Amino acid sequence: MTPRCQFHLMRVGSCSHPQAATLRGGSLCPTDFPALVGLILHPQEGPLLFDTGYDQAFFTATRPFPERLYRWATPVDLPPGAAASDQIARFGLTPSDIRGVVLSHFHGDHVAGLTAFPNARLYCARAGLDEVRGAGRFGGVRRGLLAGLVPDDAGSRACYFESMPRRPLPSAFTPFTDGADVLGDGSLLAVELPGHCTGHWGLVLKGKDDRYRFLIGDAAWSLQAVRENRPPPRLTTALLGRTEPYRRTLADLHGLTARAAGVSLIPSHCPEAAGHEPG
Ligand SMILES: [Zn+2]
Repeated sequence: MTPRCQFHLMRVGSCSHPQAATLRGGSLCPTDFPALVGLILHPQEGPLLFDTGYDQAFFTATRPFPERLYRWATPVDLPPGAAASDQIARFGLTPSDIRGVVLSHFHGDHVAGLTAFPNARLYCARAGLDEVRGAGRFGGVRRGLLAGLVPDDAGSRACYFESMPRRPLPSAFTPFTDGADVLGDGSLLAVELPGHCTGHWGLVLKGKDDRYRFLIGDAAWSLQAVRENRPPPRLTTALLGRTEPYRRTLADLHGLTARAAGVSLIPSHCPEAAGHEPG
């Protein structure tokens, strides 16, 4: 039987920007967007993270210019003790216990904590790592990429989604048909969700409570956006990635939630989704 994992969702800092940047027709008032990090406790493999959220390393990386532009565009709040490497102490874990980090993509708010987990394997898209490595400083910041947050040895610790064996997804996930088998036992299936940026993937897992979670990264900023199939303005999606694939992915997720009652979608920055999961 496919192993089922215990799952917790941690709020690892937040940033503020107008809701209208993430939802067409949204409010212009600055809104708080938590950076959510999944803690996955696999019965045999041990603890893994889905993304890392913010970390002190983010403030170091965005001190110089032009990286400081990133901090100005999306002001970040990270209270003391809120970094993922601190919060895991609640579960009796230290950073060296984290066996692997699954990355949805390489935007700064998803990878800022990587340096805190030097022993972890990295499960990610090769296309995403190549992109962050190849981006110049200005070009990278403009697209949310901070190369300084990615450890120098990331390539040697990485397992790439693109090279993993594929497994079919349950029919509840239609129109998504299969995923990359991250650990080789069917427990974690990575699913490409094109559009938000190069190498953007989500993750499917089955919890101990028998519910499927579909961690969708930044394929949508909120459950509301998925329910209403309401994308961000073209300006946002074109700046970070590609608008048409983004909208197709969002429409697919919208179709999935309309049909599949047994699947919980978790966008990386959605307070509503966070409220449904154990912290
Ligand atoms: Zn992103």
